[in-house]
Amino acid sequence: MDSGLVAALARAVPTGGLITAPEALRTYECDGLTGHRVVPSAVVLPESTDQVAACVSACHQARVPFVARGAGTGLSGGALPVADGVVICLTRMRAILDVDIQGQRVTVQPGVANLQVSDAVRANGHYYAPDPSSQSVCTIGGNVAENSGGAHCLKYGFTTTHVVGVTLVTPDGRVTTLGGAVADAPGYDLLGVVVGSEGTLGIVTEVILNIIPIPETVRTMLCGFASMSAAGLAVSAIIAEGITPAAIEMMDRLAIEAVEAAVHADYPRCQAVLLVELDGPRAECASTFARVEEICRQSEAQEIRVAADASQRAMMWRGRRAAFAAMGRISPDYYVQDGVIPRGRLAPVLDGIAALEQEYDLRVANVFHAGDGNLHPLVLYTGSHHGEGDRALELAGRILDLCLSEGGSITGEHGVGSDKACAMPKMFSEGALEVFTRVRAAFDPDGVCNPGKVLPTPRLCGEVPGPYRPHPLEIAGVATRM
Ligand SMILES: Cc1cc2nc3c(=O)[nH]c(=O)nc-3n(C[C@H](O)[C@H](O)[C@H](O)COP(=O)(O)OP(=O)(O)OC[C@H]3O[C@@H](n4cnc5c(N)ncnc54)[C@H](O)[C@@H]3O)c2cc1C
Repeated sequence: MDSGLVAALARAVPTGGLITAPEALRTYECDGLTGHRVVPSAVVLPESTDQVAACVSACHQARVPFVARGAGTGLSGGALPVADGVVICLTRMRAILDVDIQGQRVTVQPGVANLQVSDAVRANGHYYAPDPSSQSVCTIGGNVAENSGGAHCLKYGFTTTHVVGVTLVTPDGRVTTLGGAVADAPGYDLLGVVVGSEGTLGIVTEVILNIIPIPETVRTMLCGFASMSAAGLAVSAIIAEGITPAAIEMMDRLAIEAVEAAVHADYPRCQAVLLVELDGPRAECASTFARVEEICRQSEAQEIRVAADASQRAMMWRGRRAAFAAMGRISPDYYVQDGVIPRGRLAPVLDGIAALEQEYDLRVANVFHAGDGNLHPLVLYTGSHHGEGDRALELAGRILDLCLSEGGSITGEHGVGSDKACAMPKMFSEGALEVFTRVRAAFDPDGVCNPGKVLPTPRLCGEVPGPYRPHPLEIAGVATRM
């Protein structure tokens, strides 16, 4: 890396915030998508918006690409470094800047972990609703970038519903604010554009979040079914009744087996479980809960367990939250897929996944946010077996094709990142991709901000031979796609 840039970065983060030692850089070579690794040339750990702006400015002037990073739990390679580039890691920015219970707002730096927000306001009877399963470690900055979801987003909405303002360092190093504590600001909704943009439009350095009152009561049940389709029919019946549970999660037999081996959550031994949670005012919740129980019985649930207290509820959730990591108990390697289908298409998609398991001779464990049709098929494989990793990836890709053929999407909450950029043309027309490209170029005309993520480029997707090297024009000019 150019010595002038190294010196500028060292000045930008004066308190030991520059990492250039090769062995230390390896810590940042990948996110949760560990199959993709690139060692960056430098990592900076800024502590303030001004320091982030100084780092970005230095990179911009040197035309060196940079990638924002939170906790690195992303599952789509969004924080994958660019070779010869800089990683701007926000984990030193973990202050809760303001708590306004009356206004139901909390202002945080981007490195604050998701769960810390609720911890900060729980004593005041409030919490922060979006709850990715990684919430004890993933950062608010990463959540904003990915528009993260979680089990309770069925009722409460994804991150975008709860972010009311951000401070953004634009890709040329300027500092701006979007949105704010006052609702419905005039002008273009650029906050809506930035949330979910996967770190491609700038770096978020402060976030104003909406917090909500803790519901008066929470009721949770675990239902065992003889088949996934029976469990799927129960989900459809609950929603058709006009009931919006706080969460409905579904897991198949293989996922149950893994969870039991890992955390002994005492799930029913059956082909499918539904974890259903309702919350709200006590009287309303009691009657709706009774109705959900009745629907599950009518849908031929083999077993229904109702959490009697908070510790039983926590145990039910422990199994679900541990589901991804638990795969390590039944398979040396696994790939987490993330797709969406219209809720009513669950049965054909599950049949399709079962057929793909046969075709590829691989196992797939299924974990779903069933209420909003967000599937997480976990493709199990043994990386040390020749060719099995590639087969697993191909199978995972075929699952996305299946989701699309049923009118769904290539990602629900894990983002496009580097992993699915080349799948974007399967879902979006050339015209739509061109609009995305122009929006991105308006923020980042020089193509230095997290290049190679989200949007396909000819080099990235193998249309032009040779290894991927980000080129500004690939982002800035639609003409280079032709
Ligand atoms: C076990 C496990 C369970 C998970 N469960 C869920 C789940 O239930 N729901 C869900 O949605 N996701 C889930 N995830 C995925 C992941 O945790 C989320 O995407 C999370 O939001 C990533 O946060 P992070 O801090 O780790 O971000 P990183 O992985 O570090 O970065 C993610 C993206 O955000 C960008 N970014 C990070 N910080 C900033 C910033 N300050 N400004 C601009 N861009 C930034 C990066 O460039 C990258 O593109 C899970 C992951 C794991 C490993």
